[in-house]
Amino acid sequence: MRILVGLVFLLITTSSFAVTFNGKFIQGSFILGKTEPGSEVFIDKQKVKVTSDGYFAFGLGRDRKNDVIITINEKKIVKKVFKRKYKIQRIDGLEEKKVTPPEEVYERIKRENKLIGKARAINSDLTFFKNKFTIPVENSIITGVYGSQRVLNGKPKWPHYGLDFAADEGTKIKAMLDGTVTLAEHDLFYTGGTLIFDHGHGISTLYMHMEKILVKKGQKIKQGDIIGTVGSTGRATGAHLDVRLNWFDVRLDPATVLDVKK
Ligand SMILES: [Zn+2]
Repeated sequence: MRILVGLVFLLITTSSFAVTFNGKFIQGSFILGKTEPGSEVFIDKQKVKVTSDGYFAFGLGRDRKNDVIITINEKKIVKKVFKRKYKIQRIDGLEEKKVTPPEEVYERIKRENKLIGKARAINSDLTFFKNKFTIPVENSIITGVYGSQRVLNGKPKWPHYGLDFAADEGTKIKAMLDGTVTLAEHDLFYTGGTLIFDHGHGISTLYMHMEKILVKKGQKIKQGDIIGTVGSTGRATGAHLDVRLNWFDVRLDPATVLDVKK
């Protein structure tokens, strides 16, 4: 009898706890959750928006080690985050000025980082993040992956957070998902021609090193629309498109939402 009571109780608690996750709990992953509409959802201590049909989004950072705590209507789910191994590339004997940017551009870099940070902080009610992403450049080769780190002259540099698509200069770039343009800049120090799109609930995408930008800030874009062309602007070694995926200030692996060979 006691077992039966326990079982019934378990059934009741799990049924009021209906949630599914699309995405793996590994470092760098984008995760789409679905629960009862009207639920209150927290990821760790951060309250997140829930769509009218119960969807919410979040992501796991490159170096995240601790478990994720998902709280839905005050009930906690604890998920372990699996670690990944990232490539480390060491290059020595480089000219120092190529390793560290000159002091006179520090202010510029700071200003530009603020612009990017502002676009990534947007928490809109758009719900495009729950749709499937598509590849931005056709007939391209992936030449750079998320998470890899360069050590130049013994100095560990910022890890690479993007997915690089090598393609000829001038190749058309298509929007990976519906969204609103929140940043359109032609000449940023590191990233050159740069676009940022908001897809709702803190999910944003970035396109970098673009030759031409064919859209404006504030414009609403449909998936597959031509938004510009591949270039080598900013600090790029050759023509390629570098795309990025964020959940607010957490940088995620675009390969977790795109159909690319890993
Ligand atoms: Zn890149």
